[in-house]
Amino acid sequence: MRFDVLTLFPGMFRSYLDESILSRAQARGLIEVAFRNIRDYSTDKHHTVDDAPYGGGAGMVLMPDPVVAAIEAVERERPGGHVILLTPCGRLLRQERARELAMMPHLVLICGRYEGVDERVAGGYAREELSIGDYVLCGGELPALVVIEAVARLVPGVLGAEEAAAKDSFAGGLLEHPQYTRPREFRGTAVPDVLLGGDHARIARWRREQSLLRTARVRPDLLAQSNLTDEEVAFLGKQGYVVGPWKKG
Ligand code: SAM
Repeated sequence: MRFDVLTLFPGMFRSYLDESILSRAQARGLIEVAFRNIRDYSTDKHHTVDDAPYGGGAGMVLMPDPVVAAIEAVERERPGGHVILLTPCGRLLRQERARELAMMPHLVLICGRYEGVDERVAGGYAREELSIGDYVLCGGELPALVVIEAVARLVPGVLGAEEAAAKDSFAGGLLEHPQYTRPREFRGTAVPDVLLGGDHARIARWRREQSLLRTARVRPDLLAQSNLTDEEVAFLGKQGYVVGPWKKG
């Protein structure tokens, strides 16, 4: 899978991409990440990429010309990439969308800066606008890394144990159950007995229950999209969580 990143700061990416899982994925040819500096596509002699907003107001806006020229340069070399503009105004990136993006062979990620990118880029050249959360960062570089990592770890072969991604939080609609490793007791807190007994059916049941409880406590909104069984709804009810409209039967 190929990622082309359009940014004013390509130097921000390498150290992150050159470590750990993403580095191995590149070495094994499972993913490829390339960069284009948007400034290289500015045609004036000062390589200007931003200008004041029409209508007034603080800050500067990334001009459409160099951004679109960079998109077109990628398109000429590798036609058909799915172009994504990173913006807090976009649709929220969720695991489900990451899974869909992981099935695409080529993503082109546009990193904004300043007050954002001229709206005509979103209107005519990006196929999708994505936000990584309800907060505002200084630029699209961290969001692009977030998209690359969230998507790349779902590309077959990138994670050692494929199983790990399948059981992560959100994969089944709920948050993951708590995880423990050695030591058996840490500063007075012991690992739950159920995990030490080797009874895999009991462990699976306990994990599912913990997953339900954690989700009900922290992210009740996720329960609305989960297919809970009658027993699970009853279990949550017994624990004091009102059996709400999330039950789908
Ligand atoms: N004025 C914009 C607004 O209020 O929506 C924020 C611009 S932000 C300072 C500059 C750039 O950072 C954006 O163009 C975008 O590329 C990136 N960015 C910041 N927060 C982001 C988020 N939550 N998700 C995706 N991109 C983000």
